[in-house]
Amino acid sequence: MNFYHKYAVEFEEYDAMAKDFIDDDKIWDQLNKAANPSKAAVRKVLAKAERKVRLDPEEMALLIQNQDPETINDMYTLANKIKREIYGDRIVFFAPLYISNKCANNCRYCGFRHENKMVERRTLTMEEISDEIKTMISEGQKRTVLVYGESPETSIDFICDSVRQVYRTKVGKGEIRRANINCAPLSREELAQLKEVGIGTYQVFQETYHHQTYQEMHPAGTIKSHYRWRLYAQDRALDVGLDDVAIGALFGLYDWRFELMGLLYHTIHLEEKYNGVGPHTISFPRIEPAIGTPFAAQPKYAVGDEEFKKIVAILRLAVPYAGLILTARERPEVRRAVLPLGVTQIDAGTRIGVGGYRQSVGNMLPDKEQFQLGDTRGLDQVIYETCKLGNFPSFCTACYRAGRTGEDFMAVAKSSFVHNFCMPNAILTLKEYLLDYASDETKKVGEKAIEQYVEQMADPERKTFLRQALARMEQGERDIRV
Ligand code: SAM
Ligand code: SF4
Repeated sequence: MNFYHKYAVEFEEYDAMAKDFIDDDKIWDQLNKAANPSKAAVRKVLAKAERKVRLDPEEMALLIQNQDPETINDMYTLANKIKREIYGDRIVFFAPLYISNKCANNCRYCGFRHENKMVERRTLTMEEISDEIKTMISEGQKRTVLVYGESPETSIDFICDSVRQVYRTKVGKGEIRRANINCAPLSREELAQLKEVGIGTYQVFQETYHHQTYQEMHPAGTIKSHYRWRLYAQDRALDVGLDDVAIGALFGLYDWRFELMGLLYHTIHLEEKYNGVGPHTISFPRIEPAIGTPFAAQPKYAVGDEEFKKIVAILRLAVPYAGLILTARERPEVRRAVLPLGVTQIDAGTRIGVGGYRQSVGNMLPDKEQFQLGDTRGLDQVIYETCKLGNFPSFCTACYRAGRTGEDFMAVAKSSFVHNFCMPNAILTLKEYLLDYASDETKKVGEKAIEQYVEQMADPERKTFLRQALARMEQGERDIRV
């Protein structure tokens, strides 16, 4: 069987649908109607956002179309406030591991696309996966997202084996405690297998929600050219009980305003169909230059830094309970600027070359990379800066390991749980990092941040617990969590 026909039977379900949940004309209509909104109209939407409820498309359209500097500023202030109220000052850290850059698809913007002859192709062996993971663990990583191209070599059996290999690999007391997956859309049967091996989040980016642009970017005859197969990937995951799902759009393929509306419609679709369970996280990568990939050098709809700030703030306001992931595609100064606007997770110490953790010099391995990184700083340096800026780096994996996913996680996120549990877990995992991996400078700022936090805790019982747990860690205990 030709690889393209792998999902021929599954495609029928989607080909038979009269329409999907993205109505391009309706989205443009809503955006056009919202053009040049009054201050009062914007403030009304902000008043609703302040109640931390998900916004409707018409409301998001008003925020997108707002051109008034004063209320744009209000938008940023409120996004920061909501972020702090829901998530505290935590930033969750992870690092991706690129397992294979072999790909049968031909996405015009991607360095891994099949026709690109300038990239050396590789799929890591199980031993190599262990070696990569060992390096990551030795740098202090606890969470990863495993990234794969779509090819016969990265079958579901291979993907499951690679996840097991990641969890099995240990360095002293260090280990990866949560492996998320970013791979091509899978069938329900394959997703059920993935659930069995205990993955964290299942992540698929729609790239562009605009139907016509999607077809232009993904040549016919490739699996990826099937828009709906991709659009309903998260549905299939939720159907089989894999309930931490993530969505994303690749900004620069089409108008950013449309893509934001697409992300919101996707969120609403999932919430309505799956009992209030929306996306666990949303990603909003911008296209970066990639070797042998002229399209990525000058994307027609390239998003500027000011627009990028709006994208983050509007997502924070519109979908308050979804985590927002900002990747090392972005330069350090951009990361600093958008972090306060609602970002909850970042990667650091990232290497995106296949085999890059063990082999790369200065964090780069260009001939095997999918695109160029904007932030090539090491993990320790970013942890240092995060503490200095008054945030708490967190490597927490407690919810997923306690089975608080999907509906249960949403309930937790909407309560005061985050402050009572996530902050202590952030402190405990930061302490672990400081004890086992940090440089002296990072240790100093990190310990100071922890001490200040514990000192101001109001609840005496929690304060005592945390103090005792920190002391136990000093004695050598690890992986303490609440
Ligand atoms: N092959 C799988 C897929 O396409 O879903 C997963 C891996 S792919 C390497 C992960 C993501 O990288 C894609 O979904 C896309 O959004 C992003 N990407 C591709 N080319 C990029 C580029 N030039 N710059 C930034 N991100 C890019
Ligand atoms: Fe392959 Fe994914 Fe790159 Fe497309 S984006 S070429 S599917 S790795």
